[in-house]
Amino acid sequence: MNQKKLTIAIDGFSSCGKSTLAKALAEKMNFVFIDTGAMYRGVTLFALRNGFFDDEGLAIDSLIDELPNIRLDFFLDQATKKPRLLLNEKDVEDEIRTPRVSAHVSEVATVKQVREKLVSQQRIMGKKGGVVMDGRDIGSVVFPKAELKLFLTADPDVRALRRYEELKSRGVEISLNEVKANLMERDRIDSTRIESPLIQTDDAIVIDNSFLSPDEQLALALDLASEKMFQFNL
Ligand code: C5P
Repeated sequence: MNQKKLTIAIDGFSSCGKSTLAKALAEKMNFVFIDTGAMYRGVTLFALRNGFFDDEGLAIDSLIDELPNIRLDFFLDQATKKPRLLLNEKDVEDEIRTPRVSAHVSEVATVKQVREKLVSQQRIMGKKGGVVMDGRDIGSVVFPKAELKLFLTADPDVRALRRYEELKSRGVEISLNEVKANLMERDRIDSTRIESPLIQTDDAIVIDNSFLSPDEQLALALDLASEKMFQFNL
């Protein structure tokens, strides 16, 4: 029996529902879901807690020195079936989703040494295939040979409203304008940084989900995954 399994890379702009799709797809296919954005958020939380951000911005050298002391793991919450991020063995899943972390994460993600550390961990986690990994550089850098690459996009107002409603439902005090400004700023930094900028690779299939429900999007992705399994005999 062929043991090799498909690798699915999902990249795209902020708040396009990448993780929602990746999680649902992984569940249907019995694959592992890895949200790489959570890992960049974990490093950012560490930097904030250790006072590496001040009026001058990020103290890059201090963060680089501390990188060996940052340990990131995922553990699967059996009740929700959602992975939760552990930073040095402590559950930080709720804290990494706060606007404070969102406001600083893209700056941390520009640091080459941070990316090298996380990319090497991501490659180990996904080396056997059977994985759906979402982020900004999965199809371009982490798994350039992934058999299926999806690039998600959506209208910025639709994205901002979705994220705003999600934050509200978690009791976070924030305005729609603030949410939209953060998305736009993160997209700008992520697309223009020197190290592994967010790009749409030539072999990625673009899905604009502005007017797609999560179920419609999942059905489309499952069809594409079946085609690829047939094409690659997996
Ligand atoms: O996916 P999420 O919005 O949680 O990602 C948070 C931030 O982490 C992104 O805006 C980006 O700056 C960074 N990121 C990245 N590369 C990845 C995943 C996330 O640079 N593979």
